[in-house]
Amino acid sequence: MPFRGVDYFSVDSLFSEQELLVRQTARRFADERILPLIRDCFRDARFPKELIPEMADLGFFGANLEGYGCAAMSNVEYGLVMQEVERVDSGIRSFVSVQGALVMYPILSFGSDAQKNKWLPALQSGKAIGCFGLTEPDFGSNPAGMRATARRDGDSWVLNGEKTWITNGGISDVALVWARAEEGVLGFLVETGTPGYTTSDIHGKWSMRASVTSSLSFSDCRVKESDRLPLAKGLKAPLSCLSQARYGIGWGVIGAAMDCYETARAYSVLRKQFDDKPIASHQLVQEKLAWMITEITKAQLLALHAGRLKDQKKLDPAHVSMLKRNNTAIALDCARLSRDLLGANGITDEYPVMRHLCNLETVKTYEGTDHIHALVIGERVTGVAAYK
Ligand SMILES: Cc1cc2nc3c(=O)[nH]c(=O)nc-3n(C[C@H](O)[C@H](O)[C@H](O)COP(=O)(O)OP(=O)(O)OC[C@H]3O[C@@H](n4cnc5c(N)ncnc54)[C@H](O)[C@@H]3O)c2cc1C
Repeated sequence: MPFRGVDYFSVDSLFSEQELLVRQTARRFADERILPLIRDCFRDARFPKELIPEMADLGFFGANLEGYGCAAMSNVEYGLVMQEVERVDSGIRSFVSVQGALVMYPILSFGSDAQKNKWLPALQSGKAIGCFGLTEPDFGSNPAGMRATARRDGDSWVLNGEKTWITNGGISDVALVWARAEEGVLGFLVETGTPGYTTSDIHGKWSMRASVTSSLSFSDCRVKESDRLPLAKGLKAPLSCLSQARYGIGWGVIGAAMDCYETARAYSVLRKQFDDKPIASHQLVQEKLAWMITEITKAQLLALHAGRLKDQKKLDPAHVSMLKRNNTAIALDCARLSRDLLGANGITDEYPVMRHLCNLETVKTYEGTDHIHALVIGERVTGVAAYK
């Protein structure tokens, strides 16, 4: 059955024809191309690389960027694409987010013309895959402590250090790596195959199984000065990329929440217990559905308002923190409630709910944990930073 959408409060009436068209295109792709593959991909811990050219043709990579073949979608259109992709799986949405918001966006914002010409058309068309290396084994929430170093040596830089939990790492053609130099934190484009650069994939994940996650290692890895992003200086450069990606997550998780809600709603009407009555006839069940649809509606309105502000260039990182934190939290709670309402069936992969639940545990952690975003909001409203 194609997905019909979840719209309790006529939120659809707030979208333009063009926005609805973009959503419909992404929805059809998600239903027809990702959905039939995803259960086996998750079981087999396989990222479906075969979907990359089709996602590229639909303009998913760097969708809200302009130039170099990018689709120049509005931020609301881009958000709706993220929502539809993540309605099927957070791992596939992660691929799209990393490629666009964490690799193409920084090259466009901080790169040289030569870097833009070399990488952006290739990344947009899916001919090249990128990854974003910020997290290290000992520095996740606090990237300011990073130990990876970049030492200038004539016309080149020598990179040393470890990055871990890097989405797309093992399948990337280029890694955007952040390292500490005398000048502060700098960003480098490191091509796969560069001597001294190796990757190893992380196995045993119960979450994001349809996404590749890797560690990156740099041992006297030499790159040219022309591979350094010339306009990226200091930690605010990678943090600005994270803000782009978090915005997409704020929309994406609504998709996962919608799928969990709709699965539970449909199941509760069909599943009968006690006197042959559907479980939907019980108040305790209805209360859970009512909670889910209310929170999804609030999340939809928050994302839409964030998108409109972003299109007006009025969205700031503290807004994005609230969007990412709230929408991820309610999506995870929807997944947990939905799993509960499906009873034993809820733990199998015949239904998408447990997969969403496992994936959303990662989404709660990456791109700034729930705690860290609470501290960003707390700092905004009190003026007091409480990270340390
Ligand atoms: C599947 C997956 C994909 C990822 N992809 C990428 C990627 O592509 N690129 C990349 O660079 N990184 C990536 N990450 C890493 C991710 O961004 C980090 O895991 C995240 O920043 C949290 O860091 P950590 O895991 O080291 O947890 P920690 O920072 O050790 O945090 C552990 C716990 O302590 C809490 N905590 C820490 N500091 C504070 C504080 N001051 N106040 C209150 N609580 C605090 C946290 O909220 C959390 O609950 C990925 C992670 C996963 C799981």
